Amino acid sequence: MLTVNAIAAPSATEPLVRTTIERRDLGPRDVLIEITYAGICHSDIHTVRGEWGKVPYPLTVGHEIVGHVTEVGAEVTLHTVGDRVGVGCMVNSCRECENCLAGHQQYCAKGNTGTYAAVDRDGTVTQGGYSTHIVVVEDFVLRVPESIPHEAAAPLLCAGITTYSPLSHWKAGPGKKVAVVGLGGLGHMGVKIAVAMGAEVTVLSQTLSKKDEGLGFGAQHYYATGDPATFETLKNSFDLIINTVSAPIDMGAYLSLLRLDGTFVSVGAPPEPLPIQVFTLFNNRRSFAGSSIGGIAETQEMLDFCAERGIAPQVEVISADEVNEAYERVLKSDVRYRFVIDIASLR
Ligand SMILES: [Zn+2]
Ligand SMILES: [Zn+2]
Repeated sequence: MLTVNAIAAPSATEPLVRTTIERRDLGPRDVLIEITYAGICHSDIHTVRGEWGKVPYPLTVGHEIVGHVTEVGAEVTLHTVGDRVGVGCMVNSCRECENCLAGHQQYCAKGNTGTYAAVDRDGTVTQGGYSTHIVVVEDFVLRVPESIPHEAAAPLLCAGITTYSPLSHWKAGPGKKVAVVGLGGLGHMGVKIAVAMGAEVTVLSQTLSKKDEGLGFGAQHYYATGDPATFETLKNSFDLIINTVSAPIDMGAYLSLLRLDGTFVSVGAPPEPLPIQVFTLFNNRRSFAGSSIGGIAETQEMLDFCAERGIAPQVEVISADEVNEAYERVLKSDVRYRFVIDIASLR
């Protein structure tokens, strides 16, 4: 066992504290990663506060991880010492079900193993990336191209792939009109990626307060959803709407924005059920869908795509001692656009 420095939540109600956690001894196919940066995802906050169900405390979260390989097991072939690598939202899956075999490990029929708060295949509870090191089996470790700024690479592992996967699946590209709802950590990546894919992109945000930034990310249009006229103006407009907002929204109003065969995809998850008037779906043969992160090969494709196109998240780098304050700011949407912890501050 390797004892490493980390930040952990002692309970659902206490602030995160510095502590140490254990990492397993390297198995033959394991990779030891010295973490350099870890992004702060809204899911981390929901999880440590027990809002998504009971979790085992103390718990270290973080599933936007970048670092360098410092040791490899005897049978590792995919990575070597010194490689710049990343780990996202999952660290294992069954490898046998039809979804795993098709490369969609995130939809593993037996459940993928989450990077934190999950029971790993060896029975231990997984601990996330707010720590100096992590041990992960080699085929759940991604290659991070050197051209992506190191600290900016971290949020690609969750925010990046969560938006890339539905944009790719529903074929955002030239001639397609795409709307991104919400301009936060996920939303700003959705805009950048959809623009890079060649789509005509509209941001739908509550107010126009981030309009200049949204247009700066390449969006062609920007509308305030707080203005009812927006929904009249944009009726029957979009091929694809990516919703990154976790708060309940008026589904009827948003679905009415889809043109023929348009799809509304939620990657934000309000805890309450959303009522949908099915007649709204009849019109224009509309679809309502969800999407969860991406498979390992698709995540690698996204990292390579972002490197080629020079796309990276806009981040605010913080130290380990600023995480609790950062959580409060995330909850107030007061971040441009993702916090990333400089793990050097934990050593
Ligand atoms: Zn996340
Ligand atoms: Zn599986």
